[in-house]
Amino acid sequence: MPRKVKILATLGPASSSKEMIRTLVETGANAFRLNMSHGSHEETATRHRYIREVEAELGWPISILADLQGPKLRVGVFADGPVLLREGAKFRLDLDDAPGDATRVQLPHPEIFAALVPGANLLVNDGKIRLRVDEVSDSHAVTTVIVGGEISNRKGVNVPDVVLPLAALTEKDRSDLEFVCELGVDWLALSFVQRAEDVLEAKALCRGRAAVIAKIEKPAAVAAIDAILEATDGIMVARGDLGVELPVAQVPPVQKDLVAKSRKAGKPVIVATQMLESMIESPVPTRAEVSDVANAIYDGADAVMLSAESAAGGYPREAVATMAEVTRTVEADHRYQDGLDASRAAASPTVEDAIATAAREVAETVQVKAICTFTASGATAMRVSRERPRVPIAALTPNVGVARRLSLVWGLRCTVTGEASRFRDAVGMAVESAEAVGLAKKGDLVVVTAGVPLNVTGTTNILRVAKVGESLSDRE
Ligand code: PGA
Ligand code: MN
Repeated sequence: MPRKVKILATLGPASSSKEMIRTLVETGANAFRLNMSHGSHEETATRHRYIREVEAELGWPISILADLQGPKLRVGVFADGPVLLREGAKFRLDLDDAPGDATRVQLPHPEIFAALVPGANLLVNDGKIRLRVDEVSDSHAVTTVIVGGEISNRKGVNVPDVVLPLAALTEKDRSDLEFVCELGVDWLALSFVQRAEDVLEAKALCRGRAAVIAKIEKPAAVAAIDAILEATDGIMVARGDLGVELPVAQVPPVQKDLVAKSRKAGKPVIVATQMLESMIESPVPTRAEVSDVANAIYDGADAVMLSAESAAGGYPREAVATMAEVTRTVEADHRYQDGLDASRAAASPTVEDAIATAAREVAETVQVKAICTFTASGATAMRVSRERPRVPIAALTPNVGVARRLSLVWGLRCTVTGEASRFRDAVGMAVESAEAVGLAKKGDLVVVTAGVPLNVTGTTNILRVAKVGESLSDRE
């Protein structure tokens, strides 16, 4: 049985050769994140091209997510690699773009210096380093290192004590958005979303070229989650910044809440950050990390994500393999499916939802091997995924962009089909495709959902139980 929970791996220096990308796909990565906070447009374009080449070689769709940096504050670069900041030392932040050292680094955000006050805390690198502001001018701040650690190029900075006047999309985000949309990405992730309007603004700029994931990493976004879920195509529980912006102990309950709400809304949810953090430097994970990945899956997440573990660590393949292994193990545990069954949201009163529910119920009542769903826009396949059925779901679409997008979504095994003009041909295609990908064999039953007229968005209205190898009569 194919895995249902998807693996999203961030690409970076450790994983940008075509061979490594192929290895990660073969090991279990379903989707890749291109992090616009790191790397040039040229590097992004090369990674994108390699993914598409690997996709063509292997013959199944791969989802690409471009992650916009958003109004995230980051330090500049260092002259001689990472620097160790020691507790009690002074460290200066300024607007000078000269490479930094153990005494200073650039913080290229004039608006921050205007808003900072002595006594405020600056948290660097997902909160690992804490600096306290001693004095501040409009172009620099002198700080004392309260909690030391290693600081390196472009590490993130959070200022939890001060309300910062931040726009949803920076100039860089707008130029990156246009670049990746033209390159052809399937998902666009927005960092530091604070309200639904931020999502709507990005969607307007995307003009349908990519679907939008709202990264939930600000307390304001947690508070506005219902409106954000209404506006967005999916969310990411971005625990790195979330655990800095909120007391860290609140991350697990917030994660559970966000996953539950997203599932109810039928929008994919990715659980991200520090999932296998120790594997940046070790070929084996800690027990706590394995438990964390497993629990995100038990919660019902669509996808689990690797950040530096696959982008910059020594063991990208091992990290993907670990996630795949944990995923397979949890999916085989009866508690997993029992939990999904117990937390299933009621269908909304639409024909698509009624068909999706019926497809799952048929699959539970009689022995069927798969649910095959024709989907023009992807919406019907997402409704079937929302049901979290026990059997695999084959999503069939004539649109390669839809197939790629859906590859990030729970349980969907996506195939690009030809256009069928008659329902009979559509059923034939569904059955053949289920057989071709090994979901069913001659004599097995599959459930087929489709809409007549075919290939028109929003028409799903038919459910058919078909037997593999049996041809439909001419009258259908
Ligand atoms: P980032 O987002 O890696 O782009 O910061 C994820 C997170 O904050 O968890
Ligand atoms: Mn973040």
